Amino acid sequence: MNEMIIKRNELLSQKVIKGLASRNMTGYYAANREEALKLALSLIPEGSSVTMGGAMSAHEIGLVEALKAGNYNFIDRDAYQDKRAAMLMAYDADVFLSSVNAMTEDGMLVNIDGNSNRVSAIAQGPRKVVFIVGMNKICNDLDGAMKRARNVAAPINAQRFGLSTPCAKTGACMDCKSPDTICCQFLITRFSRHAGRIHVILVNDSLGF
Ligand code: SF4
Repeated sequence: MNEMIIKRNELLSQKVIKGLASRNMTGYYAANREEALKLALSLIPEGSSVTMGGAMSAHEIGLVEALKAGNYNFIDRDAYQDKRAAMLMAYDADVFLSSVNAMTEDGMLVNIDGNSNRVSAIAQGPRKVVFIVGMNKICNDLDGAMKRARNVAAPINAQRFGLSTPCAKTGACMDCKSPDTICCQFLITRFSRHAGRIHVILVNDSLGF
C-alpha cells in the first residue's frame, strides 16, 4: 500500500477509535494483518466458545484458522446439519466474530443482513463481539456508510452467494424486494450499553467487501 495512504489511515483510525470510545465501545489499531491477528487472539481467552457470522475479514487475517487449530471451542456453523441449532448456539457464545459492511469515522457500525442471524447476534446475546475492520470500510458519515453497504458490500455478497437480486446483475442497489434480497435488516450500532462487549480492530489494509 502507498505510504501516504498508510499514514492517512493511521491518522484516521485515531479519530475512529475516539468515536468508538464515546459510544462505549473499544477500538484498536493494527498496522497490518499479523498485528490484527495477535490483537484478536489477545481478546479471546483460551477455552472460549467462539462463533461468527460470515466474516471474510476474520479469514483474511488468519483468525479462523488460528481458532480452529488452537484451544478454543470454535462453533463452525458449516459443520452442523441443523443450521438453526448452530445459529441459536451463537447467542450463548463467549465471543462472536464479525466485520462490518461499513463504518463511520465517528464510530458507528453498519450491517445489513438477509438471514439476520448476524445482526441479531451483534445486537445481543454473545458476551463479547470482536469486529475485524479493514480501513477500506470507513466512510465519512452515516449516509456514506449506508450507501457503501448497499452499493458495494451487498452487490458483491449477492454475487458471492449466487443470489438472484438486481444488484448482482448491475453492481448497484436497486432497492429491490426480491425474495433473495440480503437487505432484510439494517443494524446501526451507535452505542453499546454493556461496557467491554464490543471491540473493533481497525486494520490498515483492505479487507472483505
Ligand atoms: S435492496 Fe436488493 S438490489 Fe439493493 S443491495 Fe439489497 S439485495 Fe441488492
